[in-house]
Amino acid sequence: MPSPATHPPSPESRCPCGTGEVYGSCCGPLHSGAREAPTAEALMRSRFCAFAVHDAAYLLRTWHPSTRPEELELDGTILWQRLEILGTQGGPFDDAARVRFAAHYRSRPGIPPEERVRGVQREDSRFLREDGRWLYVDGVVG
Ligand SMILES: [Zn+2]
Repeated sequence: MPSPATHPPSPESRCPCGTGEVYGSCCGPLHSGAREAPTAEALMRSRFCAFAVHDAAYLLRTWHPSTRPEELELDGTILWQRLEILGTQGGPFDDAARVRFAAHYRSRPGIPPEERVRGVQREDSRFLREDGRWLYVDGVVG
């Protein structure tokens, strides 16, 4: 199934990353390039949110060049539902950080019952800050 086109939420709707803020003042400005993520955790949230709204360009833009894939095809059958930040390492004055999270997903409506999935992806992700911008490096799943 081809990935659906990017479909950003309206600025007034609740941000998919789960901060409780609206998209227009949470991950929206990061996705549009109006602002940079101030912390690794904010970048992590905005990347989860980019998966949720199928913004592959943002995911590639925030990926460290040493580990960035040539291209990224998002699984259009998966609905990323909820993000839990389990822990972070690295403060505002560090240029390296780790974020542990659990991302909850399930199949989109319309997927045949025998193909439906639902689960949680747990990952310990590494981030580096270069030229003032946080970038995702890699992560250990599990
Ligand atoms: Zn957000």
